[in-house]
Formats: sequence, C-alpha cells, structure tokens
Amino acid sequence: MKKNAAFVAILILIFSIITAVILQFKNPVKKKQDGKIQIIATLFPQYDFAKQIGGDKVDVILLLPSGSESHTYEPTPQDMVSINNSDLFVYTGKEMEPWADNIISGMKNDIKVLDLSTTVDLINSEEFEEEHSEEGEEHHDGDEHHHEDEHNHEGEHYHDEEHHHAYDPHIWLNPQYAIQMVRAIENQLCELDPDNKEYYQNNASAYIKEIEQLDNDIEETVDNSKNKKIAFGGVFAYAYFIERYNLDFKSAYESCGESAEPSTAQIKEVIDYINEYKLPVIFYKEYTTGNHARTISEATGAKMLVFNTVHNVSKDEIKDGATYVSIMRQNLENLKKALN
Ligand SMILES: [Zn+2]
Repeated sequence: MKKNAAFVAILILIFSIITAVILQFKNPVKKKQDGKIQIIATLFPQYDFAKQIGGDKVDVILLLPSGSESHTYEPTPQDMVSINNSDLFVYTGKEMEPWADNIISGMKNDIKVLDLSTTVDLINSEEFEEEHSEEGEEHHDGDEHHHEDEHNHEGEHYHDEEHHHAYDPHIWLNPQYAIQMVRAIENQLCELDPDNKEYYQNNASAYIKEIEQLDNDIEETVDNSKNKKIAFGGVFAYAYFIERYNLDFKSAYESCGESAEPSTAQIKEVIDYINEYKLPVIFYKEYTTGNHARTISEATGAKMLVFNTVHNVSKDEIKDGATYVSIMRQNLENLKKALN
C-alpha cells in the first residue's frame, strides 16, 4: 500500500513536470505582454536601428549571441520559438542567414518579415574582386564590363568558391545603405503600430541625421587625404565601405567567413602594397588575434588597427551603449590614421 502511494506520487510528479515543460515550451515569450512590439534582429546593425527607431515602444532581441561567428551561426530551437512569437523579424538576407528561408516558410502569417538585402544594391563578390584585383594604380572605372577576358588567368584565385558569398552580405558598412535599412525598419514599425507612427518617424529621422553626419565626416576625411589606399590583414568584409568612398585597397583575405585562409602570396601582396605606398596602418577585424596582420605589421612597420565590421558587439559594448554610429566613428578615427 505504501509502495503504491509512493509510486502514484512519483507518477504525479513526473506528469506535472512534463506538463510544465510543455506549457513553457508552448508559450515561453508572452507576446506583447507589456504592450510593446517584439522585434527579432539577427545582427547588431539592425538591432541598433530597431532600438533607435522603436525606443520604449519596442522590445528588440539580438539573435546572434555576443562574440559568436555570424557567418556560421545557426538558430537554436529557442531562437525559432522567439521568432515565431515576435511581431517583426529583421534579417540581413539569405547570404548572411541562409537558414532564414526555412523558418520564414513555416512561420505564422501575422509576423512581419523584413529582408534588408532587398533594400539596397548588392555587390556581386566576384565582380568586386575582379574590379579590384588589377595590379597598380590604374583603374578602368568606365569599362568594367570588359574584364572577363583579360582576367581569365586570375581563375586560380577563386579556389575557395564554395565558401564565397555570391553577393557580399555586409551592406551596413555603407552608411547610405544603413540609412535605407533604417527607413525600411521604420516603415515596418509604422505599419505594425500606426498609433505611434509619428514617434517612429521622428526617431528614425533623428538617427538618420546622425548617420548622414557620419557619412559626411568619412567622405570629408577621404577627400582631404592625399593617400586613398588602405590595407587589410584580417578577414575582408569591407566591399561596401570601399565602394562608397572610392578607396583603393589590398586585402590578404578575399572574404569574411572563417574558412578562407590567405595564401603566402596574398600576404606578400599586401606587404608589397604597404611598402610601395608607405602605408602607416594594417587593418584587422575586431575580436580576432590578427595573426596575419601581425606578420604584415612586423614585415612593414605598419601599425595594427581594428576596422570594426559591426556584425556583432560584446556584452561590454552593449552595456556601454555602443551604437552603429559610435562603432563607425571609431572606424573613422582609425581610418584617419591609415590615410595620413
Ligand atoms: Zn562577415
């Protein structure tokens, strides 16, 4: 009898635990529990933009955990639940988040989805590489369509094609594109919550002014510098920045993900470039050891400085109130040293 009672008690306990777990899983985030719009942003730029526009009317969740590699990131089951409980899902595009398509196709209809890559003109990675693989200072800006034939011998550079993005996903590094991203998020928020339309519009306009100022300041720095050349020793995410400000560059890496290590020849090209033009700075990516940049620095005397790619930020940076604009302003300070 006693044994039976204990058995029943254990059964009841197990059942209640299972029920609790199921209930929790079914409804882990109470949608709009505080009346706020729930936004899920995959990367830091759109997280920052959504927070700036939405202010105290929204809750924004940054999907990518601090310090994780954005290109290889896969959402957890909890992430999927969060996305499904949100009002607005903002992602960079299929090149950055190839997993998004699957989630979106299984999503409830009442969730708004914003693919930011549709708001800008994407850079084709291979075309960009071809245009910039020209040796020397001559640029054929007018005839970019005649490159295929001359550059067939460059084929061996594309050994890592599988890891190549067809289109470069780092659109936010062009501040003018960042403005278009802000506008797109603003439009979504105004549709979702028309009662607060004016609030969102005012916040968006204020932040756009900050980005415009940033863009002007970078442009002015580049215009006022005799040197327009920069060198990268870390992974390369800067095509949109290079294109926006018409800079010349040499990079050890061809792309951004972790897979493509530069060859000795590519590192030597960067060393020669720095020596030839007496460049004072070798850039590398934030939160990396900068191994190759160090090699280049030791060979040339160029100083190692971070060019932040703004994919992601650390917990400390979030605590300190880092924004897209504040991080890009640090980049501008480092750029001034590089162009000097
Ligand atoms: Zn990247």
